Amino acid sequence: MDYEPVIGLEVHAQIRTASKMFCGCSADYANAAPNTHVCPVCLGLPGALPVINQRAIELVAETGLALSCTVNHDNIISRKQYFYADLPSNYQRTQYEDPICSYGFVEIGPDGETRRIGIRRVHMEEDTGKLQHVADGSLVDYNRAGVPLMEIVSEADIRSPEQARLYLQKVRQILVWIGVNSGNLEDGAFRCDANVSVRPTGAEAFGAKVEVKNMNSFRSVERALQYEIERQIGVLKAGGAIDQETRGWNEERGITVGQRSKEDAHDYRYFPEPDIPPLQLEERWLGARAAALPELPDARRERFAQDFRLSPQDAELLTAERATADYFETAAGAAGGQSPKAVANWLTGELFRLLNDTGETLEAATIRLQPEYLGEIAALVAEGTISGTVAKQVFEECFRTGHAPRAIVEAQGLKQISDTSALTLLAREVIAANPKVVDDYHRGRTQSIKFLVGQIMRASKGQANPQIAEKALAEELGATAESA
Ligand SMILES: [Zn+2]
Repeated sequence: MDYEPVIGLEVHAQIRTASKMFCGCSADYANAAPNTHVCPVCLGLPGALPVINQRAIELVAETGLALSCTVNHDNIISRKQYFYADLPSNYQRTQYEDPICSYGFVEIGPDGETRRIGIRRVHMEEDTGKLQHVADGSLVDYNRAGVPLMEIVSEADIRSPEQARLYLQKVRQILVWIGVNSGNLEDGAFRCDANVSVRPTGAEAFGAKVEVKNMNSFRSVERALQYEIERQIGVLKAGGAIDQETRGWNEERGITVGQRSKEDAHDYRYFPEPDIPPLQLEERWLGARAAALPELPDARRERFAQDFRLSPQDAELLTAERATADYFETAAGAAGGQSPKAVANWLTGELFRLLNDTGETLEAATIRLQPEYLGEIAALVAEGTISGTVAKQVFEECFRTGHAPRAIVEAQGLKQISDTSALTLLAREVIAANPKVVDDYHRGRTQSIKFLVGQIMRASKGQANPQIAEKALAEELGATAESA
């Protein structure tokens, strides 16, 4: 019997606000000493009253809109009761029956064969503190307690570990793009749990599901799911049954390990938070949220492919991050409509290579190599002012110093030599210096002219116009053949 996996994902994403969800403490705790970003509210002290962070609500609503969800007008914050040392109030403020956003989707996969993955709900909640287990006990840091968080729950529409990875990458891309989340998996600002079950292929009913936790990279999500699917199929094939439980991914051993049996929802004794009134989101306010959204990555990718006649691969690469897309669009504009493809090549080739070498971000390098300059270099090549070889040199100089490309070309006298008489002189020199190659050429190996063009490029330090140089060579070679 064949089995197919059924996967649903829960993403926890920290919301990029200046302060915490229900108090004025700074949410920027990454480099702070333990327990320095705390107050009576986020420490859960008796009598402390929460005040909801409006910016967090705005950002969750914008997330819902970007994920094609319905944003619900009536919202209730609930208390989810459980006792754990990282939760000082013994309950987490979250949303239960009425999430702020519901029934959205994202599309994954290549053009033409995209797959739609449903999003059941997006709700807001507060993060917990952090525990650190040491030799003689456990330490707790409440700096993270109360940081705004949203939970994005997919439908069980995912059918392979690869689709799971693509879905997560797409959700992360959108969140980072609209500025609601840092997208940082390593420090836990974007994290994911997976619900996975298997069922006989073609069956309607779902199998018993297992929740997998502790995956902190896209690769570990893919590996953990692969392992867990095979484990479940193995158990079923051996005549066993799957326990509904929570399992943790062990990265070093490459296996999932049983942690605890899954609680049912009623164990949490949810009830509406009495200290926070129901939130009503007005239509006008929602309209403003929609207006605040930038053009989203899928739409921008399609527009780039169409308007700039880019390949699907180039369009994908250039819209992976918003900073790259913005950079490209400005650079292509500055190239004066000259070959956007050339601008794309400079960006994804040379620029990405240099950023890789220096370890800089695009934003940091933009201070020197402004997008207008990249466009200028492409235009200089297209209008024949500099050769491709010189352009590379100008590009690196511009990347290093931040000087304008035209100024570099002027100051260093790098203009392309397109003057026929100058190139004819060079052609004669090269022909005289390479009798054997010239001989090959006359014996019918016409490709050897490329070598001679290369020699002209070398002699002119890359400044010769290669097309005109080749023409001059062909004419001179014809002349030598006649005189021979
Ligand atoms: Zn606080």
